[in-house]
Amino acid sequence: MDLELGVWRWQCKETEKVFEALSWAGDFGGSYGEILMYAQNGDTFFWDTILDKVAFEQCQGIVDEVVLLNKSEKTRPNPFLKVCGICCDGASDGSILRVKPYCPYCEDGEIAQLELVTTKQVSIPEVTHHQWNSLTDEEKKNLVLSELRRKPLI
Ligand SMILES: [Zn+2]
Repeated sequence: MDLELGVWRWQCKETEKVFEALSWAGDFGGSYGEILMYAQNGDTFFWDTILDKVAFEQCQGIVDEVVLLNKSEKTRPNPFLKVCGICCDGASDGSILRVKPYCPYCEDGEIAQLELVTTKQVSIPEVTHHQWNSLTDEEKKNLVLSELRRKPLI
């Protein structure tokens, strides 16, 4: 997918170190339903969740079910976006894709978007779901559950 994206400066809240990673160039993100997914090695992927919605909706359905079942935690925001990478094929480095760039210094720290450095034309791959599609309904549910627990979000 050819896109004009922004090179942004981000800061890790854990280590306070600053690094650069791609994001949308404008203030309002991509078009409706378009998201960027990130691998730990810095690779960036494109996901049009309107056109490519089957895995997205299946994963969302499982998270909704788990969150609703877990009524005592109802006040928490729905954690779906934090685990939606689990239904995408892993990156070449074996990492699970996520909706925010990985911090290159501590990997899992929370990061804040600081400022736009420049914009550039990039060609990035679209996410795929071969692994997810090969699973049974029960295996999908177990995979999402284990990811929610690993984070831990439930
Ligand atoms: Zn960090």
